[in-house]
Amino acid sequence: MQDVDVVIIGAGSAGLAAAKTVRAAGLSFTVLEAMGRIGGRAWTSSEAFGVPFDIGCAWLHAADRNPYYAEAQAAGWTLHHHDMNVDHLYFGKRKATEEEEDATRRADADLCRLMENWSGTDDRVSSLLAAGHVARAAATFAGPMDFGKDYDEISIEDFRAAADLDPNYFSSEGLGALVAQFGADVPVELSTPVRKILWDVPGVACVTDRGTIRARAAIVTASPAVLAFEEIAFSPALPDAHIEAFFDLPMGMLTKLPVEIRGTRLGLSPFDDLLIERPARHDIYFLCFPFDIDLMVGFVGGDFAWELSAAGEAAGVDFVVDRLCGIFGNDVRKHVGRAMMTNWGGERFVRGAYAAARPGKAAARRVLAEPVAERIWFAGEHLAGPLIQTCGGARLSGETVARQVVQSLSPR
Ligand SMILES: Cc1cc2nc3c(=O)[nH]c(=O)nc-3n(C[C@H](O)[C@H](O)[C@H](O)COP(=O)(O)OP(=O)(O)OC[C@H]3O[C@@H](n4cnc5c(N)ncnc54)[C@H](O)[C@@H]3O)c2cc1C
Repeated sequence: MQDVDVVIIGAGSAGLAAAKTVRAAGLSFTVLEAMGRIGGRAWTSSEAFGVPFDIGCAWLHAADRNPYYAEAQAAGWTLHHHDMNVDHLYFGKRKATEEEEDATRRADADLCRLMENWSGTDDRVSSLLAAGHVARAAATFAGPMDFGKDYDEISIEDFRAAADLDPNYFSSEGLGALVAQFGADVPVELSTPVRKILWDVPGVACVTDRGTIRARAAIVTASPAVLAFEEIAFSPALPDAHIEAFFDLPMGMLTKLPVEIRGTRLGLSPFDDLLIERPARHDIYFLCFPFDIDLMVGFVGGDFAWELSAAGEAAGVDFVVDRLCGIFGNDVRKHVGRAMMTNWGGERFVRGAYAAARPGKAAARRVLAEPVAERIWFAGEHLAGPLIQTCGGARLSGETVARQVVQSLSPR
C-alpha cells in the first residue's frame, strides 16, 4: 500500500463518494474497508429469497435531492413511489376503527406541529406525546421505525433538524445494488480494518494488519458507535469534545424480518403499510408484498429491535409469524416459506442502524463536523445535515467533506 494524499476509512456510501470526489480533484487516495465487500449499510443480497432483498437501506428517500434516484432512473430500474401512510392499523389483534385511524392521523399532525413549535427545556419527544394508544401509534413511525429509537430517547432538536424525506421510492433491484454499482470503479482495500490513526506525525499514519499507510489527511466514515467502541484508536487521543460527541450520537436500531408468504396475499395489496401496535413498544410494521413478490417485510425498531436481536433469528421469525396468525388466522402458517432477521447490531464495523443524538445533545453533530488539526475529517450519515440517517445523505456528506479536504490540501 502506497502513501497517498488522502486515506478514506470505510467504503460505504460516504466513503465511496469521498473517494470519487478526491479522484476528480486529481489527488491520490486509498480506501480502506474492514468488511469483505463495499457498500457498508447498503447491501442487496439475493441469497435468502432468490430475489434482490435490501438487508440495509431500501427506500430512496428525498428523491428530488438524492443523487441515487437520478442514477436509478437513468439505469432504467424499476421504481415505485411509496410514501408511508398506515393503510392497516391494528391494536394487538384488533383492527382499529375508522375513528381511531382518523384520530391517529390527527395525533401525527399534532405531534409534528408541537415539535415544530417546541421551545421548552425537556428535549425528549416523549415530553410532547399525549397519553393514550392512538397518540402512541402516531409516534411509532417517528420514533422506532424512523429514528430507530424509542421517543424518550429522541431529541426534539435533532429530530426537527431532519428533513421531511418525501418523496420516497423503492426499487426492485435494490438500493444496495445501486450503491455497489456507484462504487464499482473505486479501488478499495477490502478486509483491511484500520486499527489506529497516528496524527503526531506529518499528516496521518493509518495502522492496519497489512501495514501502515501515510497520508496528508484522513476521512473517517465509520459510524459513531464504531468510534465510541474504539475500534479505531487515535494517537494522540482526539479532543474530548470529539470523543464525547461519539457517545452523544448512539446508534438507533432497525431490524428487518422478511417472511415469505406463498399462495395468498391475505387480502392485502402490494406496498400496503400495516402497523400492529402492541404494549411496551413491541410494535411491528409490515411493508406488504413489495413489487408483488411473496414477501411480508416486518420491521421492528428501538429498544425492542435490540431485544429481538438478542433473542436471535428463530425467536424473531416466530414473533412475526405469530403476529400474522393473530390477525389473519392460523392458516397463515401453511403459507410461510423462507424467513430471516437482519442483525446490524451484531455487525462489528457498524453496530446499529443509524445515529440519533441523545436528548439535549443535538450539538454533537456540529462538533464532529469540525476536523481535527485539519488532518482528520469525519463524514457519513450522521453528518448529513437534513438528510441524516439516509444513504443519499451519507453520499452527499462524503462529497462535501472530500471537497473541504481537497481545498485544505491545495496550495494557498
Ligand atoms: C436496517 C436499515 C435500514 C435502513 N433503511 C434505509 C432506507 O430505507 N433508506 C436510506 O436512505 N437509508 C436507510 N438506512 C441507513 C443507510 O443505510 C445509512 O445511512 C448509510 O448506508 C450509511 O452510509 P455510511 O457511508 O455513512 O456508513 P456505512 O455504510 O456504515 O459505511 C462505513 C464503512 O466503514 C467501514 N468501517 C468501519 N470501521 C472501519 C475500520 N476500523 N476500518 C475500515 N473500515 C471500517 C464499515 O465496514 C462500513 O463499510 C438503513 C440502515 C439500516 C441499518
